[in-house]
Amino acid sequence: MTEPTADIRCITFDLDDTLWDCMPVIEAAEREAYAWMVEHSPRITEQMTLSEVITERQVYMAAHPELHHDITALRKQWIGHLAARFGYGPEIVEPCFHAFWHARNRVELFEEARAALDTLHGAYKLGSITNGNADVHYIGIGHYFDFAITAAGVGAAKPDPRIFRAAIDAAGLRPEQIVHVGDDPLRDVIAASELGLRTVWVNMGDAEWGEKRMPDHTITHLGELWPVLQAWRGSPV
Ligand SMILES: [Mg+2]
Repeated sequence: MTEPTADIRCITFDLDDTLWDCMPVIEAAEREAYAWMVEHSPRITEQMTLSEVITERQVYMAAHPELHHDITALRKQWIGHLAARFGYGPEIVEPCFHAFWHARNRVELFEEARAALDTLHGAYKLGSITNGNADVHYIGIGHYFDFAITAAGVGAAKPDPRIFRAAIDAAGLRPEQIVHVGDDPLRDVIAASELGLRTVWVNMGDAEWGEKRMPDHTITHLGELWPVLQAWRGSPV
């Protein structure tokens, strides 16, 4: 009698800090939004520096956990709040947000990430799962993915199980046929493994693993993903 073997059919990816470095993108996007305000709502920028605007935005967002699954809505709400304080109407919300959003989606994929997507595309069903407002189609990598799950679309952010259930449904597979790949120990690895997905932790910064439950595999960049998947293939369940 042959032993049942792993039958992996789908790979899901976290986006920010898994496929690209997120911090420089957000910083650039904050600068773009501020530059928009300098031109269109100068009473704000005459009173507040860029770093004051960022700090205030962070405090505001932290105080509104009810919208953490939809950071687009939350950022717009904050822009509206800031606008009102300086005597501007809600009409500045959309254009100011879009100045941010376009820059926020000008990401530069890690070299290994692009190569991994090229290799995996066609061999596996691919999905993206993000808490953020990166848009794989706008970025120009939408063609790699069979489905793109966002916290805003689901109404719940990782580590909430609902977002992984949405991915399992979109894949149309059993959880153990899916491998989730991400950088965040809790939001990606622990949350996915609790629903029975296999997990790969992308640890680019040589971080310590601080959770009790271990990832199935740890890699330091996405170039190491293909061999991990090959080793899984044919291994006992
Ligand atoms: Mg991430």
